[in-house]
Amino acid sequence: MQSVLTINGGSSSVKFALYLVGEPLQRTLYGKIDRIGLSGTNLTSNDSTGNQRESRSIAASDHHSAAKVLIDWLVKQDGFASVAAVGHRVVHGMKHLQPEFVTQDLLDELRHLRPYDPDHLPREIELIEAFRQRYPKLPQLACFDTAFHQSMPRVAKLLPLPRRFDAKGVQRYGFHGLSYAYLMEELARLGDPAATTGSVILAHLGNGASLAAVREGRSIDTSMGFTPTAGLVMSTRSGDLDPGLAPYLARTEQITSKQFYEMVNHESGLLGVSETSSDMRDLLAREADDVRAAEAVELFCYQAKKWIGAFAAALGGLDTLVFSAGIGENCPAIRARICDGLGFLGLRLDKAQNARNAPLISKDTGRVAVRVIRTDEELMIARSVGRALGAAPAA
Ligand code: ADP
Repeated sequence: MQSVLTINGGSSSVKFALYLVGEPLQRTLYGKIDRIGLSGTNLTSNDSTGNQRESRSIAASDHHSAAKVLIDWLVKQDGFASVAAVGHRVVHGMKHLQPEFVTQDLLDELRHLRPYDPDHLPREIELIEAFRQRYPKLPQLACFDTAFHQSMPRVAKLLPLPRRFDAKGVQRYGFHGLSYAYLMEELARLGDPAATTGSVILAHLGNGASLAAVREGRSIDTSMGFTPTAGLVMSTRSGDLDPGLAPYLARTEQITSKQFYEMVNHESGLLGVSETSSDMRDLLAREADDVRAAEAVELFCYQAKKWIGAFAAALGGLDTLVFSAGIGENCPAIRARICDGLGFLGLRLDKAQNARNAPLISKDTGRVAVRVIRTDEELMIARSVGRALGAAPAA
């Protein structure tokens, strides 16, 4: 029986999973390497039921060496010998509409795109190359986080800059596309008619956070833009800022563009405002006696509410709102605060269902279905690989 390996490379981590190809796909193991390039780099793995199999410290100063360690480890695992293809999450795919098998041309194209997302893309390329060097004949599929939003109308892609930049690809792309594609497949599986014929807002609220507006199954807008730094305030990313800020800080604080990049990606957001933590759980635990934590939480909920309002307007109404990712799936207090005051859209939360993270958390009397769906980017990658191999049904 064939297997599929999925690789999801973050800025300091690599998540991996092995699936047996079939209908449905069956995950046989998963795990991650985290703190790559930092002290305490660790490889943890879990079996199909979620029980931790092992946790060991490893030496990996970059993603290339992490991939080598991972391959050496994977070779010893049951099922790896039957891997027919590897699927990678690739953060940026410009105008690619579909997952694509990795070729030399595609790798060259991705190398050109590195400046679009210097935090993720170079590392994802290193991971692809490590597998390519070791297994040159093994097919690898690049699954793009931007692909889901290629359906956005021109007006949602345009940036109001001098036109010459548009021709060079300086446009709004949007991200979290694998998560959004998975959520839409789940919505259809649950039988929600909005998945194909209605208006849906998807809120992927994790460390990285964004929202997407989806009409009749197609993305029409999203809060992230040219880079994943845009949109909603996030764990350490600022989200949208006044474009006058960068030159102001350059003039008054001598902040360079490199320092500005670091600041808005790694030192801002919930961490920047609270001065203590980027983690929503910590902030909720502290907010009663730390005004900085309280303000960070309030800012997050206020901005998420604004995006929902903006997208309801762009969609011309709202049938279904989906909460997902770490905060969206697990945090009733944040969902309640975001939805508070949205009764005018026909949105009514059921307190008891919300408190237990139920799959449906809206009241029957509301016009809008509010759902909690656990996202699964790895499964989306595995499905794409299965489909590309002709071994899984198309959505
Ligand atoms: P990533 O984008 O790195 O995959 P996650 O989707 O795991 O991130 O989301 C991480 C966020 O989810 C953190 O802010 C964390 O505090 C939050 N989170 C996870 N579980 C809970 C919970 N039970 N209550 C509140 N927040 C939670």
